[in-house]
Amino acid sequence: MALKLRTFGRGGVHPHDFKSFSNDIPIRNAAIPPEAVIPLQQHMGAPAECLVEPGDEVREGMLIGKAPGVFSANVHASIPGKVKEIRDIYLATGMRSKAVVVEFEGEFERGGNGDVQWRDMDSKELLETIRDRGIVGMGGATFPTPIKFTTREGNPVEYFVINGVECEPFLTADHRLMLEKTEQVLTGIEIVRRILSPRLVLIGVEENKPDAIEALQEQIALENLDIEVVALKTRYPQGDEKQLLKALIGREVPSGGLPLDIGAVVSNVGTVYAIYEAVALAKPLIERIVTVTGPVLKNPANFKARIGTPVGNLLEECGGFSGVPGKIVAGGPMMGFALADPGVPVVKGTSGILALSERQSRAVLQTPCIGCGRCIAACPFGLSPTILYKWIEHREYAEAMSAGLMDCKECGCCGYVCPARIPLVQGMKLGKLMGRKKG
Ligand code: SF4
Ligand code: SF4
Repeated sequence: MALKLRTFGRGGVHPHDFKSFSNDIPIRNAAIPPEAVIPLQQHMGAPAECLVEPGDEVREGMLIGKAPGVFSANVHASIPGKVKEIRDIYLATGMRSKAVVVEFEGEFERGGNGDVQWRDMDSKELLETIRDRGIVGMGGATFPTPIKFTTREGNPVEYFVINGVECEPFLTADHRLMLEKTEQVLTGIEIVRRILSPRLVLIGVEENKPDAIEALQEQIALENLDIEVVALKTRYPQGDEKQLLKALIGREVPSGGLPLDIGAVVSNVGTVYAIYEAVALAKPLIERIVTVTGPVLKNPANFKARIGTPVGNLLEECGGFSGVPGKIVAGGPMMGFALADPGVPVVKGTSGILALSERQSRAVLQTPCIGCGRCIAACPFGLSPTILYKWIEHREYAEAMSAGLMDCKECGCCGYVCPARIPLVQGMKLGKLMGRKKG
């Protein structure tokens, strides 16, 4: 009898994954951009404070933006060169940020080496190193990692959970990382184990990545590590940390709470890899793996790209388009952001760039709600999207918030199943924004 795969409880969807465009393509270095546009706001929390001026020379990996407090993150130069200007830009999310524009010049002479004796470092030193090198959550949320790893008195970490789910269609960056950098990912996990001292370490990977599961299991056995790899049923949004914890440890994070409230800390595979580089190679977070893919792209790729590389450069490096793109999206198709400008830079949270076809991007005719309840059944967070949407439409934000609007993770499941094509997620985003504004 086949083993029943674990998954989360209510709701969720199973969209076509479109991963075959890029899941067999090895990671390769993207070209160094002639000009890197490095935002000072690439993370949740306060923007980094600019430490450079136009005309300054910067080295690769040099600190150019300093976190003003704990709820922020340092920013480093991703290429060597000269600061051309500091300007305001729009990020993929539509938010504005100041950005340091560096013109590529000179040599690569980054400090750091591959021989750091991290096993001699205590948890405080490791945490400081992670803070100094600007590590944030690489799954898209960009939550400053040191805060996640700062545990509370009386709140021991039972579980350290590594998120290797990558449930968004099209994206294959984490898949390739688990496959090609297996040893380094596991070293990153061992570094975090030293900080958190968890009772159990689990890696959750969806069953549609059997080669990654096998590679991890083989390396774990080879190194005799105390890490369990758990194959999960393929289902969206299993990569959300609340759903992942439900699937892996059967516990529910309370509304408004954190995983630590149920004894868990969750980090993405990309984050533990960045921790490996930060600690074992003394390398700040200046590049990341980005899947660049889609049905109208000539040669999809998984790039290791410098932070600040304009999205348009990566699309060109893929050979451009084979058809007319209907939409360019940063992130996955469920939670990503449509881009109006190819000059938008890759940031720490950019997991993918998608070139969708016209058919996939076509606006569909919206019709009135038929009260079918499909959106309610699909919401993994137990919300009633149709009711929330009606309140938001009527500008009754307080009502929507008291019905759980702030628990909405903007996963897109409700909009995906709605037969009336009501823009439910866009409504939730607007409602949350207005609700916050009105306090
Ligand atoms: S977008 Fe929000 S309301 Fe819709 S299914 Fe996801 S969490 Fe529920
Ligand atoms: S899925 Fe769409 S049509 Fe059905 S109840 Fe929800 S909003 Fe209305």
